[in-house]
Amino acid sequence: MEELWEHFNEIMKLSYIGALLSWDQQVNMPKGSVKGRAEQLVLIQNLIHSRIKSDKTSKLIKEAEKLHNLSEIDLAMIREAKREYDQAIKIPDELVSEIAKTSSLGHMEWEKAREKSDFSIFKPYLEKIIKLKIEFAEKLDTGPTLYSTLLDLYEPGSTYDWILKIFNGLKPKLVKIVNKLNSVSDKPNQSILKKHYDAEKQWQLSLDIIKKLNFDFNTGRQDKATHPFTTSLSSIDTRITTRIREDFLPDCLFSTIHECGHALYQMGFKEEIHDTLLAEGCSMGIHESQSRMWENVVGRSKEFWTYWYPIFQKVFPENLKNYPMEEFYRSINIVQPSFIRVDADEVTYGLHIILRFELEKMIIEDQLQASELPEIWNAKMEELLGIIPPNDALGVLQDVHWSGGGFGYFPSYSLGNLYAAQIYKQALKESPNMPQDYEKGEFSNLLNYLKENVHQYGKIYRAPELIQKITGEDLEPEYFIKYVEDKYYPIYGI
Ligand code: ZN
Repeated sequence: MEELWEHFNEIMKLSYIGALLSWDQQVNMPKGSVKGRAEQLVLIQNLIHSRIKSDKTSKLIKEAEKLHNLSEIDLAMIREAKREYDQAIKIPDELVSEIAKTSSLGHMEWEKAREKSDFSIFKPYLEKIIKLKIEFAEKLDTGPTLYSTLLDLYEPGSTYDWILKIFNGLKPKLVKIVNKLNSVSDKPNQSILKKHYDAEKQWQLSLDIIKKLNFDFNTGRQDKATHPFTTSLSSIDTRITTRIREDFLPDCLFSTIHECGHALYQMGFKEEIHDTLLAEGCSMGIHESQSRMWENVVGRSKEFWTYWYPIFQKVFPENLKNYPMEEFYRSINIVQPSFIRVDADEVTYGLHIILRFELEKMIIEDQLQASELPEIWNAKMEELLGIIPPNDALGVLQDVHWSGGGFGYFPSYSLGNLYAAQIYKQALKESPNMPQDYEKGEFSNLLNYLKENVHQYGKIYRAPELIQKITGEDLEPEYFIKYVEDKYYPIYGI
């Protein structure tokens, strides 16, 4: 067992080195240096891959499986090691490199296609990626269906049927709420957020906020990047990034809080599992639940702004001095159907995801042709959100995921909202006064709750087990619906 831990500890070190190379590429590296860095990253990937699929891994797992009276953590470690090994041996090296090659070409062509809003540029690459990912799912074959196999990569243990049932329950309720909010005449408006906000001041505030949220600057740092992300370079080194727009205040603010939520998770694993295969989020959905809880449930709450708004007023008096907090609170909580998923509010967001989930199932299992995608995309947008994208850049071409073969990833985003609402509800049950702490700029009670119940375990439990352990129930979307109704009806005067 010890040898197995050690073996994978070395593999983890290699992957942290890869993460550092990639972090540097996105944060510091000059644009012209891509080629050399790409080659270094491929080398690290190959080293990791060959170690995982080595005879040594197979032997160590087999030996470990013979042992009796193993701890919960040892058993989880064997489970994860096996998962890595199985995937590495089931997928031929040629397929891995074919997917990598097509993805990187596809990514370039996708960027071009999106810029020109011309789906035909991306179509041949998308067709090829789809073919390769279907082959990948057939070879991996871990789920009851091909699409389930892909979903399981991001939400271990989940299946198409399980997610379908959740989304089918969610869909009509979300549509109803969105329509109801949309029919109100006195809607909040965002114009206050679109005034000029100095970049340097935004940056400083973002640091002040995560400091208050107990982001540990001793084992982490924030930098700027085009696309905000979180990465760990070891279990005691977590990096987050943000971006700043001077003409839209929420961009930096909420990106920072979102990534901080991911980082607090990565910073909170118990020492016993540091730098091991278990030092990761339990699933992508649970990871998103942490970022979204801090970003939306806390960061867009009235209590949060009771503390922060006077500070913001002092920093940006030219815009906010005479602007009432109540109106500001409404402006950061607008719900409206929009074309772009990443800009969507937390209520319409789920509908964007359901659209992609339904399409991916058809792409992977029902022979839906790439050429049919733009039309079906628009039809579903009309059905779910009541709007039709005027061009493909605002429609089927908007997301990067498919260009890299990331089919099956989207549902995790939405599951994150659902898990967040349910876990938060439980946290409130145990400490009902938590929101009053936020008014005083005190956020450690929530963090301690999350550390105790979610963070410390890393990947020891599967998501369905974890949510049972925390709340005594399976994932229950009603908590999210209730949260949305309780929050947004008052904002919209309903
Ligand atoms: Zn996230």
